[in-house]
Amino acid sequence: MTSPRETFLKHICQTSSDPIGLEIDHAHGSYVYTKDGRRYLDFLSGIAVANIGHTYPAVIKAICKQAEQYLHVMVYGEYIQTPQVALAEKLASLLPESLSSIYFTNSGTEAVEGAIKLAKKCTGRTGLISFHGSYHGDTQGSLSVTGREVYRRPFYPLLPNVTFLPFNDPTVLNRIDSSVAAVITEPIQGEGGVIIPDRDFFRALLAQCRKVGALLIFDEVQTGMGRTGSLFAFEQLKMVPDILVLAKALGGGMPLGAFIASPAIMRYLSVDPPLSHVTTFGGHPVSCAAGLASLNIMLKKNLVRQSKETGKRLLTALQQLAKKNKAIHEARGMGMMIGLEFVEGHQCEQFVKRAREAGLLLGFTLHTNRVVRMTPPLTLSEKEMSEGLGIMERALKVIHS
Ligand code: PMP
Repeated sequence: MTSPRETFLKHICQTSSDPIGLEIDHAHGSYVYTKDGRRYLDFLSGIAVANIGHTYPAVIKAICKQAEQYLHVMVYGEYIQTPQVALAEKLASLLPESLSSIYFTNSGTEAVEGAIKLAKKCTGRTGLISFHGSYHGDTQGSLSVTGREVYRRPFYPLLPNVTFLPFNDPTVLNRIDSSVAAVITEPIQGEGGVIIPDRDFFRALLAQCRKVGALLIFDEVQTGMGRTGSLFAFEQLKMVPDILVLAKALGGGMPLGAFIASPAIMRYLSVDPPLSHVTTFGGHPVSCAAGLASLNIMLKKNLVRQSKETGKRLLTALQQLAKKNKAIHEARGMGMMIGLEFVEGHQCEQFVKRAREAGLLLGFTLHTNRVVRMTPPLTLSEKEMSEGLGIMERALKVIHS
């Protein structure tokens, strides 16, 4: 008889030569449980999705209730579906007035695609600016603005007229000129290695966009929904983007993304021609019901503040660990989005492996092999944090330089 692992390797398309390969039994709160009876403390939230923890009862209840009522009934935007409308209304009430028109998608990359199309149609321009080290998704449009050549090159030709600039460098912003439809950026570069934004750079970026009439797209797929200690990271940068992109935690564990702009900008999707951007499943009623339940929990339990406070304590503890350990270059982060940068890639790899063997799930970031990513549930308790820190401390002891 073939083992589940053999079947997994044979029939599930492999995108890595070394998949983690845990065989999941169930997940609850901050823990993931495997079929072999082990329990793992999840400091990844798979990745930055389970912001309120796994299988939160109110979310499961909302999913079941909606599933009994109706599943998919019509392509996007034609019927009035209460879960979509209720989630959109709630999001709009939490966002600045200019971000009140919401287009739901199935994923982050689709939301980025929609945002790019919208910017092109709205401005009548084709130029796009993105940043080195960025990640915006793996479909062809979002891959075109993803700032790592090694992932783009095998798929050329991609979108034309894309320029990559160094992140956090204000001296190059004059490259954004009146041919540019939009500048797309993450407020914190996630896959780039948890790169913290420079506030002056972002202020200058917004000013340059305004000067030349380019739209500013914030990709908050990873940083949104309380992850960084505010509901959206743009709040901490004290600016409002023209288009906001969300996904990951938005659906409370179900597939859901969104791009959000003003009605004046969004109007371009319904004219010349009408139906300029359509989707069958975007804004699925079950995903929206789960997303609303998750957002309500986040607000009711004050998880955004908790994210800020727990994140600060976790970061301080990691910075102390960093001081004591020569293998670590730096610990940095905002809220519950933290990167632990090692001096050498192999140390980072050993550390993640050791931690996993001891029951703690940590991850890498895509564009660098030296940064360990931590995005635990915002609900992480003090006890769970100590458990995670204890495992990390022990894992560090056996890292070879
Ligand atoms: N943008 C950012 C900033 C992301 O981190 C990701 C996913 N890692 C995406 C876009 C793509 O989202 P998805 O995987 O849902 O397509």
